[in-house]
Amino acid sequence: MSKPKILVVEDNLMNLELVSDVLEAHGYEVLQADTGQKALEIAGKELPDLVLMDIQLPEMDGLEVTRLLKINELTSGIKVIALTAHAMRGDEERAREAGCSGYIAKPINTREFAGVIAGYLGEAQTDPGGKVD
Ligand code: MN
Repeated sequence: MSKPKILVVEDNLMNLELVSDVLEAHGYEVLQADTGQKALEIAGKELPDLVLMDIQLPEMDGLEVTRLLKINELTSGIKVIALTAHAMRGDEERAREAGCSGYIAKPINTREFAGVIAGYLGEAQTDPGGKVD
């Protein structure tokens, strides 16, 4: 079974590295984009299993990027999960209207994050290694 491929879209490079490190530590293949334009290019070329989409991005925001992914036949089937630092009233609805399947608030909880991602990918949420650290 090949590793699920996850595209992380985040303009804050510290967050981009943190999220990528956690995912890689759990065996995912990680692709990175720090702008919406790069995200569209990489998603179209690599067809990841999941996109983690920062909503606040320079130029094109994450909601717009999600809408563009969803209207493109090639990428419309890719699940997009919103990532946002501002868990404000209405954000989740806006993310869902744009086509996101879920919503994760930043800062991420590094202990729970991989389990949440596995849930979105439809995988078992238990760690087969049984690590309890
Ligand atoms: Mn951002």
